[in-house]
Amino acid sequence: MDIFKFGGASVKDADGVKNLANIVRDYKKDELLIVISAMGKITNKLEELTEAYLSHKENTHEIFDEIKNFHFNIIENLFGEKSQKIYDDVANTFVEIDWLIEEVPDQNPDYIYDQIVSIGEVVSTKIVAAWLNEVGNKTLWADARNYIQTDNTYREGKVDWEKTQQIIARDLLPLMRENIIVTQGFIGNTSENYTTTLGREGSDYSAAIFASCLNANALTIWKDVPGVLNADPKWFDETEKIEQLSYHDAIELTYYGATVIHPKTIKPLQNKNIPLYVRSFLQPEGSGTAITKDSNPIPIPSFIFKVNQALISILPKDYSFIIEENLSFIFELFHKHKIKINTMLNSAISFSVSVDDDPIKLEKLIADLDDEFNIKYNKNLELVTIRYYNQKTIDRVTVNKDILLEVKSRHTCQIVMKNKPLNT
Ligand code: ASP
Ligand code: MG
Repeated sequence: MDIFKFGGASVKDADGVKNLANIVRDYKKDELLIVISAMGKITNKLEELTEAYLSHKENTHEIFDEIKNFHFNIIENLFGEKSQKIYDDVANTFVEIDWLIEEVPDQNPDYIYDQIVSIGEVVSTKIVAAWLNEVGNKTLWADARNYIQTDNTYREGKVDWEKTQQIIARDLLPLMRENIIVTQGFIGNTSENYTTTLGREGSDYSAAIFASCLNANALTIWKDVPGVLNADPKWFDETEKIEQLSYHDAIELTYYGATVIHPKTIKPLQNKNIPLYVRSFLQPEGSGTAITKDSNPIPIPSFIFKVNQALISILPKDYSFIIEENLSFIFELFHKHKIKINTMLNSAISFSVSVDDDPIKLEKLIADLDDEFNIKYNKNLELVTIRYYNQKTIDRVTVNKDILLEVKSRHTCQIVMKNKPLNT
């Protein structure tokens, strides 16, 4: 049994859906479960809709119409004359949003967000399942909310693994013998039967949950890149595909901000020793990247860039040393304000961290630190992390940069830097 995961980019239009069906047709093995995200950039649009509804904007219905038309268009392109049944099915799903936005928004905004945004995955899977059936695959649409059980932390549902595992083994496994299963990424269900989401880009994680609970042979994530690259092509012209990665390296890369797979994906797979393949839906014949336990790859240097970084230096006002007590106080405040530290360094009397620059959060943090510490604050910086670095790779990324902070461990180097001022 295999698990496939297709993200929004793979099903952004009718051709994408057809291409997905070709990949499924060429999968000649036994049981298959397919996890799919919302189509194209629909999750962003649904977020926009939620925001418009919550803040009583006039264009709420306009945004909603745009979302509906986007899907109806794809249905039309796929099914032509025969579109009535799937059209009705999708239209009925959208009615859930109609009902919701008729009311005054007086419930928990995160709850409302999940009820609206989850619809993107529900409709994308309905369309894909209908298309797979249309082209001759016996396919069953399954509601992920019947399987993935979470607590009621809306927008960040925490999975109840025990319950989820039980239900999947009991209810989903038998269905897989007869059908290809199509289900949603990103969404789950509370014990009171309300929809939750698992955090943006969470569909990879959903796929890993299904893979783990079904003891799948492998999970394949189909992307618009040939595999895991050693840098984001957005930043580098010459990227290299990594043929094999260990779970360990994959976790490190995603932790430092590589966006190719969601950071929570690896652990459930690693726990059950299920291989993860990252392959291209544009070139399905390519070998992609294999992420496994004991691959012993030649370390290729990988580069991860983060922009919009702030470097905060924290210095005790009385010039006392930075000791454990101060550090635990400081860490507690970062935790309280939900600010993730991207890199850090301490000296005798100062502690420096680089974080994503979120001015609202940082202002509150600094207000809390203000009594006991002097704070220095530098903005508009870049953070580059190099895994398996050497001097050549460091030189490559620091051309025309001023380095503000450099932290090295055996395999990883992190540099906080900014552009050198232009010579005048
Ligand atoms: N559709 C959701 C998002 O865009 C989940 C996912 O794509 O993984 O965040
Ligand atoms: Mg997406």
